[in-house]
Amino acid sequence: MYVSEVGVGGVLVNKPRIDGKLFDGRDLYYFDDQNSRLPEAREPDQREPDKRPQTAELRYDPLTAEWITVASHRQQRAFLPPQHSCPLCPTTKTNLSELPDQFDVAVFENKGPAFGPDLGQIEHPNGRPRFGFSTTAFGRCEVVVFSPEHEGSLAQMPVERVRTVIGAWMNRTKELYELEGVVQVFPLRTAARRLASPFTTRTARSTPTLL
Ligand SMILES: [Zn+2]
Repeated sequence: MYVSEVGVGGVLVNKPRIDGKLFDGRDLYYFDDQNSRLPEAREPDQREPDKRPQTAELRYDPLTAEWITVASHRQQRAFLPPQHSCPLCPTTKTNLSELPDQFDVAVFENKGPAFGPDLGQIEHPNGRPRFGFSTTAFGRCEVVVFSPEHEGSLAQMPVERVRTVIGAWMNRTKELYELEGVVQVFPLRTAARRLASPFTTRTARSTPTLL
């Protein structure tokens, strides 16, 4: 499949997306630059197979009329890891990261998502919702990695790379909106700041309700 056939000015902007899987079944997508020399075949994830955490919980606050997602499994997330154990740099012999091979731009499902991995329609509270109303936090969270470099910013990247990032965004936004129950797709930067350098990643969240 092609990420986006026509870009700004009618120019073909992206190469075919390369799809893979991570050790626990999460989706992984490689988006290569148009002038990339990376191979089409990529190494598989070398980590031992494992299960994914349960889908988080959405709690409704009737005082503020807001949904709050509660995901206890996120307590085990990586927090400011040193570069030699960075989960967003390409895998090395001593660091089996979330990216099993080299890449230009990569997207993968978040290991500890605030929404998902289960998909479905949430139950909305009727009338005056009672305190303690909760339902399943259906949806999906993905991590968008702009570069294999540990540090940097989008503004410093060549135009070719920025085009690839935009193509990846277009592709993920379109496909996330096609998932069951998803009503809102939005980018978030704060989670990426905990994981790695502040400006080379974003997370894309698709949620079952407007937040
Ligand atoms: Zn890194």
